[in-house]
Amino acid sequence: MSFTSEKIQHLPPYFFSAVDKKKKELLAQGVDVIDLGIGAPDLPTPPFVIEKLKAELDNPKNGTYSPYSGIREFREAVASFYLQNYGVTLDPDTEVLALIGSKEGIANIIPAVVNPGESILVPDPGYPVYRTSAYLSGVHAIDFPLKPENSYAPDFSQLSEENMEKAKLLFLNYPGNPTAATVDLSVFEQAVSFGKDHSMAVVHDAAYSLVTFGEYKAPSILEVPGAKDVALELGSLSKSYNMTGWRIGYAVGNPEMIQALANLKSNIDTSQFMAIQKAAAAALTSDHAAVKENNDIYYERMKKMVQALNSIGIDVDLPKGAFFIWAPVPEGYSSASFAEKVLSEAGVIITPGHLFGPSGEGFFRLSMSVPNDRLDEAVKRMANLKTGVKS
Ligand SMILES: *Cc1c(COP(=O)(O)O)cnc(C)c1O
Repeated sequence: MSFTSEKIQHLPPYFFSAVDKKKKELLAQGVDVIDLGIGAPDLPTPPFVIEKLKAELDNPKNGTYSPYSGIREFREAVASFYLQNYGVTLDPDTEVLALIGSKEGIANIIPAVVNPGESILVPDPGYPVYRTSAYLSGVHAIDFPLKPENSYAPDFSQLSEENMEKAKLLFLNYPGNPTAATVDLSVFEQAVSFGKDHSMAVVHDAAYSLVTFGEYKAPSILEVPGAKDVALELGSLSKSYNMTGWRIGYAVGNPEMIQALANLKSNIDTSQFMAIQKAAAAALTSDHAAVKENNDIYYERMKKMVQALNSIGIDVDLPKGAFFIWAPVPEGYSSASFAEKVLSEAGVIITPGHLFGPSGEGFFRLSMSVPNDRLDEAVKRMANLKTGVKS
C-alpha cells in the first residue's frame, strides 16, 4: 500500500530540509554552526507595515474571503509602484494579480501557460523551484546555461534551434539567485524580442527587485516597449520588506497570462488575507526608505565577506543586488567537497552550487542574511580557511 504518488516519490526533497537535518546534528554535537545557506532576510519587517496590519486586524470585514485576484487597493498599489519606480502604466484590473508569495506564482504560471509534455527554459544556475514546478506540471525543463564570462546574462545565440522552437516559456531572474547577477535594460530588450521571435512567454522573477546597492537600480522587464505582448513579471514583498512569512507577492504584465493564472488560482486558493494585502499596499506605496536601510546593511556585510574571500585567494567581485555572494570553489575541490570542508573546518554552512543546476558545479553560494556579529565571526573563520591557494 502506498499513499505517496509516484510523482512525489520521485521528487527530490527540497534541498534546504536536508541541510536543516545536518545542522541540527552538528548543533547537538555542540558545534557553533553559522548558517550562510539561508536565502531569507534576518532583518525585521519595517514597523509601519506591522502597524498597518495591526490596525486592519480590528476591522472584521478583513476576515472574509478576498476577491480572487486580490483586493483593488492592493492591485492599485502595485500599479502605482510600477508607475513611480519604472514609469510603467498597469491596468489594476487586467494586468495585476495578487499572489500568495512569488513561489506560488512560479508553481502556478507553468500549468496556466504550458501544456503537459511541452518544454520551458530554466536558468542554470537558477532558483530550484522553476525546475521542480515544471516537473510537477509534467513539463520538461531545459537548462539554459548562464555563463560567468557573460556576467550570467542569457546568451540567446548559444541556444540550439531545436530548443528555441520547443520551449514555450522562459524564466529569467535578476538580481539573481544564486548568482547575484544584475542586468541593464538591454538584456530585457533582447529577451522580449527573443520571446516575440519564438512565440515564447518570458516570465521574469523579480524577487530581489529592490535589493540593490550603490547607484545601481534594477530595471523591470516591463520597461521594454511592447513587453506586455510576451512578458510577465513576478514580484514579492518577501526579500525587499522582510516579509517572507507574510506570503504576499504579485504578477504583472501580459493580460492573457494574468487571466490564465487568475483562472487557475481561483480554483485552488482564494488569495491572501485582506489585512496582509492592505499592509503590503502601504509598503509598496511608501518611499522605500526602510528597504534602503536594509540594503546598506547587506552591502556592508558583502564588502567584509568579499574581502575575506579575496584574502584566501577566492576571486569575487562585489555584487550590485540580492544578498548573495556566488563564488568559484578553490582548485581541487568540487562544490560538494568544498561545502563539506567549510562546514567541518569553519562550522559555516554554505550552499554548494550544483544544487542550482549543472552549471552551478564548481561554485558555492553565501547568503548575507545573518546578524552582523555572526557574519563577522563567519568572515573571520572563512579568512582562516586553508584553501591551498596563495592569494
Ligand atoms: C525567495 C525567492 C522567491 C520566493 O519568494 P516568495 O515571494 O517568498 O515566495 C522567488 N524567487 C527567487 C529567486 C527567490 O530567491
